[in-house]
Amino acid sequence: MIDTDYYYKLSKCVRCGSCKSACPTYLTTLNETMGARGRIAMLDGLVKKRLKPSKELAEKIFSCMLCGACKNQCPTGIDIPEIIYHGRTLLKKSYRKGRFLRTALKYSISRLDTLLSILRVGQKLFYRPLQKAGMLRYVPEITSTPFKKRVQVKKYINKISRIIIFAGCGVNYFYPELGDALSSILVTKGYEVVVFGGEVCCGAPLRSIGLEKEASKLAKKNIEHFNKVRADAIVSLCPTCTMSIKEQYPIIAGSTITNIMDINEFIIKYGIAEGLEIDPMTVTYHDPCHLSNGLGIRDEPRHILKSIKGIELVEMKNANDCCGFAGLFSSHFKEISKSIGRKKIGSISDTSAGTVVTSCPGCILQLENMKKEMGVDFSVRHVVEIIDEAMHGYLQLRITNYEI
Ligand code: SF4
Ligand code: SF4
Repeated sequence: MIDTDYYYKLSKCVRCGSCKSACPTYLTTLNETMGARGRIAMLDGLVKKRLKPSKELAEKIFSCMLCGACKNQCPTGIDIPEIIYHGRTLLKKSYRKGRFLRTALKYSISRLDTLLSILRVGQKLFYRPLQKAGMLRYVPEITSTPFKKRVQVKKYINKISRIIIFAGCGVNYFYPELGDALSSILVTKGYEVVVFGGEVCCGAPLRSIGLEKEASKLAKKNIEHFNKVRADAIVSLCPTCTMSIKEQYPIIAGSTITNIMDINEFIIKYGIAEGLEIDPMTVTYHDPCHLSNGLGIRDEPRHILKSIKGIELVEMKNANDCCGFAGLFSSHFKEISKSIGRKKIGSISDTSAGTVVTSCPGCILQLENMKKEMGVDFSVRHVVEIIDEAMHGYLQLRITNYEI
């Protein structure tokens, strides 16, 4: 973003405070500097040189969850998360907590497969015993084979159309079974599925720690892949990846990807869940921030769940409230993250549902974590797992290899 643009965007704030009513970090701390309006004011002070870059200032700007709840409240239409992203590029050197991570990610992000296989060994040897003893938070086991390496379909003669699955790091390394469920659904319905073995991170985590240039490189790599095959749609199981490709690639990579879709949108558009039936269950739905605030998708997942015979959908209070994950935020601002998470678990527990359904691998991780910490019991599932179960039955073998 060039300076004049940034000055202009910051100057649009009329200090009304509407954004504070939706900002989870403000509502948890009741501290002006931890809310959207305060952050805008501080960044305005920074660019006008009334404030100097400092560790304290950087902490406030990096404590934003980039959830986008404020954006929908702002009467002057300020894209607050975009303002924050740019602010982070200005303040990254002052953000000490992020130093190690920035260096590590800068050099390892293009070699994530190797890094994750090394971490996998460490996870087995050191992390599991400590986690079992309650000393570390729950993190799912890193898979030995990332989802993107499991399936690559090049040709499928009688296809309806060709769909690219953009798995994203959460599905690739931690929840490959979600990718399996999606490819199984698509292949059953007659779609040709393409998964790129060379897929790289969407870039959102890098951008969130101020590494805009590095995020741009990753975006361009993914765009190269997308341009290699003509596909009718690119679908993702992670709203952060979808939002990043749809809304941020034009900014950081200068390319607009028009056929990227969230999986809920795709399922509704092509009637994938119509006529399905499942063993009776009562579920509630949690809205991931980047899906609801970022992409405006709230009705679609509910519509899908209600259309499956056997499912009773009950709404929780404040379903649109954040779960407290926000990627790196949950490890850098643990206490605020947990406090937001506890509220969410309370809302889920207040319903009669035995299952909470969501559409984001990050939310699944946080909800699993928080329910363990609070000692409550319900199952947490992605919407594609529910559809796959309704389509194939829970124990049916997944399709993991297709004819090339
Ligand atoms: S993006 Fe979320 S956490 Fe950040 S200022 Fe806006 S509402 Fe607050
Ligand atoms: S809602 Fe918009 S104009 Fe009002 S204080 Fe927040 S950022 Fe400024």
